[in-house]
Amino acid sequence: MLRQALLAASRSGGARRVVETAPFTRDVVRRFIAGETIDDAARVTEGLTGEGLLVSLDVLGEDTLDREGTEANVRGYVELLERLGAAHLGARAEVSVKLSAIGQTLDEAFALDNARTICTAARSAGTTVTLDMEDHTTVDSTLGIVHELRRDFPDTGAVIQAYLRRAEEHCAELAYEGSRVRLCKGAYAAPDEVAFTGKEDIDKSFVRCMKILMAGKGYPMLATHDPRLIDVAGALAVLNERDADTFEYQMLYGIRPQEQRRLSGQGAQVRVYVAYGQEWYGYFMRRLAERPGNLRLLMRSLVGRA
Ligand SMILES: Cc1cc2nc3c(=O)[nH]c(=O)nc-3n(C[C@H](O)[C@H](O)[C@H](O)COP(=O)(O)OP(=O)(O)OC[C@H]3O[C@@H](n4cnc5c(N)ncnc54)[C@H](O)[C@@H]3O)c2cc1C
Repeated sequence: MLRQALLAASRSGGARRVVETAPFTRDVVRRFIAGETIDDAARVTEGLTGEGLLVSLDVLGEDTLDREGTEANVRGYVELLERLGAAHLGARAEVSVKLSAIGQTLDEAFALDNARTICTAARSAGTTVTLDMEDHTTVDSTLGIVHELRRDFPDTGAVIQAYLRRAEEHCAELAYEGSRVRLCKGAYAAPDEVAFTGKEDIDKSFVRCMKILMAGKGYPMLATHDPRLIDVAGALAVLNERDADTFEYQMLYGIRPQEQRRLSGQGAQVRVYVAYGQEWYGYFMRRLAERPGNLRLLMRSLVGRA
């Protein structure tokens, strides 16, 4: 119930104004967001990569509904990628892109062109792009765009959300050689017809999907903070005789940082997803929805006691 309410609030203009203008919200937000500027992103990326972690950077700007805003988001990615290239960080830091930030809602062909521009900049910087997966209504369109992009940029990463009932089918289709696939639970509201809604069902689906990806020929990117699923991932790596450089764990900036370092210290590849920019509201609200304890932090900040 609470999760659904927070996810509904993540798309509500009124709730957005309250959260964005509360006096101390930013302190809570900064736990999950690297900052608002490219300098903040570069500083955090240098820190994490210096510790042996990998990074995927998200320039916040989801649900942009006008062409000017969309073009500004694309420029933001190109500028970031130039910065990564100049700092020789391409081998350790890639970018994650939400198609809703670059025109998917306006016109699919426009979004594809924009994604090509970002992939070209990524290639020049010696790195890759992963297309995040958003609301369930966009899944077919997003997978179609991944498919198109992979003709010219075969290293484009896809994302599968385990809570979707079709997740296993999609994993089987994507478990081919060279295919980079992020598996996550799924962070958006979705109806029962298309998605599992109970935690246990979602976790079981995650395990089934991991089995397919880890037994397949692709490059699985296992995006979860869930200790039980991380243990299963380790067991599947042994079972499938996978070397540490044939898959990676992924976690979000600010969530279970010690676990990120523990896994990396054991020789695993761990990528931290780092979001930055001024449009942090939707991303932040999804982090609240994932964990009620985060909501308590926010409530304290809203009444000015944080
Ligand atoms: C790298 C990465 C990329 C992602 N990309 C996408 C995407 O493209 N599309 C999409 O729909 N979703 C994406 N997600 C979000 C994902 O779908 C889940 O909503 C999120 O990861 C929480 O699920 P979990 O697997 O960590 O398990 P959970 O069962 O939610 O959490 C397990 C444990 O992790 C910790 N934890 C999890 N979330 C939080 C939090 N917000 N604050 C504090 N602690 C927390 C807690 O200790 C919790 O007990 C991504 C997640 C990661 C890590």
